[in-house]
Amino acid sequence: MSADSDPGDSRAAVLELRLQGSAASRGIAIGPAVVLAPLHRRLLQWQVVAPSDRSAEVERYQKARDLLLASIRESLTATSFLLRDTHAIIEAYELIATDPALDEAIYTRIQRDGMPAEVAVSTAYDAHIHALATATDSFLRDRRYDLENLRQKFLELLLIPEQQVEHVQGAIVVAPSLLATDVVNYHTNGAIGIVTEVGGITSHACIVARTLGIPAVIGVRNATMIIPHGRTVIVDGSRGTVIAQPNEQTAAHYCSLQREQVSLQRHPVPSAPVATADGITIPVYASVDSPDEVPPALSHGADGIGLVRTEMLLVRLQHFPTEQEQYQWYTMLAERAYPKPVTLRVFDVGSDKFIHGMPHEANPALGLRGIRFLLRRQDLYRTQLRAILRASEHRNVRLLLPMITSVEELTATFDLLATIKSELANTNEPFDEHLPLGVMIETPAAALLAEHFAGQVQFFSIGTNDLTQYTLAADRTSDLVAHIFDQLNPAVLRLVDHVARIAQRHGIELELCGDLATFLSATELLIGLGIRAFSVAPSYISALKRRIPTVDSGQARALVEQALQCRDSASVHALLLDRSTTLTSTSPPEPPLP
Ligand code: PEP
Ligand code: MG
Repeated sequence: MSADSDPGDSRAAVLELRLQGSAASRGIAIGPAVVLAPLHRRLLQWQVVAPSDRSAEVERYQKARDLLLASIRESLTATSFLLRDTHAIIEAYELIATDPALDEAIYTRIQRDGMPAEVAVSTAYDAHIHALATATDSFLRDRRYDLENLRQKFLELLLIPEQQVEHVQGAIVVAPSLLATDVVNYHTNGAIGIVTEVGGITSHACIVARTLGIPAVIGVRNATMIIPHGRTVIVDGSRGTVIAQPNEQTAAHYCSLQREQVSLQRHPVPSAPVATADGITIPVYASVDSPDEVPPALSHGADGIGLVRTEMLLVRLQHFPTEQEQYQWYTMLAERAYPKPVTLRVFDVGSDKFIHGMPHEANPALGLRGIRFLLRRQDLYRTQLRAILRASEHRNVRLLLPMITSVEELTATFDLLATIKSELANTNEPFDEHLPLGVMIETPAAALLAEHFAGQVQFFSIGTNDLTQYTLAADRTSDLVAHIFDQLNPAVLRLVDHVARIAQRHGIELELCGDLATFLSATELLIGLGIRAFSVAPSYISALKRRIPTVDSGQARALVEQALQCRDSASVHALLLDRSTTLTSTSPPEPPLP
């Protein structure tokens, strides 16, 4: 965090607060903050419940307990599809939540001591957690984490419904965390922006925010403590920046950016692929999470769908879908985009896209993620590949593999595909025999081994979000290392350059679907590097389609040579900034460098 005041403003008694989080849903929102107190603060400020109100309090507790049990039982169904160890842990949750001794302790605290339900639950669980923490047996000691998780879930169920009644019309909601249903409720009640302290970019809540078009920034540490309730807040959902108590200059700057965005959205967008000034056609695809997002993406000018994060289906359903359910979902995507291509990336679960039933790992970004999980659970992988192949009958589907680090992962996938294709052929089910296959280049291993993948696949899709995370060893979700996580770092650019040379030599398509594709200041550099298609969130398509025709690939290559010689990210940014000031007046307005 930094606190800046305008040096030229003598009235700058109130400091402008700039907070950095992760950009979760693009757009700019300006409004008063409605700050929702975190659970622990509510727990500390409780008052004794009057005897006449205690039975209502008991009822509140029982209702929350029923909801908790229902959600545990739902998870049990989901985990039976996934990992058995996890299933056993969730069974233990059920035992704890129905423990008569705990139930009795909570009941007594409410009825006899007049504690509000959440305080009774919290203190009763605390007593058990404390007892377990001092156990000599390490297995028992570790069970306290289960109790802590359960207590947290219980408290959310008790307290979050209350938060929804806050007055949010025209306001920015600042909360410790939000569920997807909360985002829908706040939107319905007129909230215009969202800031949370925790949460992953790909969390269900963020997907909903993007779908509803509410600017959102997540992962803003201590936001509920720092942002004053009722004060003006600017949410820049494209940059992941939150500015509380903006000074006049900042407020005016953001108001004009907001106006520019609105006027840009009104411009007609070319519906066919655009070309660079020297005639290289560069399709701009949309990255979407569901079939519902396809028609709006096409009307934003998408030349196809360059990335479907199919794992979002798991997040939505909260269980592992059958082949038929998946087939219907993929078919809907393919039909809605037809005849334009649709790129289905197989489930990239794990890391920050945790779903029920996955093992808890100390270092999930380096754990059982994407293709690794699928190869461990080949039954699930087979089901998905069968559903995708069946949906490929109209020949506009492409298959994409995430988190590849070795040729073996590709070989194992080919083996599975060959078996499934012959099964489908035997039962006369139509599918695309030449289903194009691509690998995500999002690990340094994949980039450095690209030569060995090139002869076997039809396209590479560079995922700069993860490529940056793994190259710079900087967690993409952590604000503590956000200053290190820079997609324009020369180390990342050198890997992209290496992959581009290989792609060119083998004549395979090179696309970029990481967030770097949305940085208009980097479009020229990326085209110079050899990127020949982009995939971005639908709302970025029009700006990118306006930028591409301003690029000349020959000049872009010269820029690349300079960028590759840079020793750090700052030098690359300086180079691009310098370049952007020399762009012609036909260029779209340039947003500040990310
Ligand atoms: C990436 O890593 O850049 C990417 C596009 O994939 P995801 O953000 O889903 O990990
Ligand atoms: Mg990725």
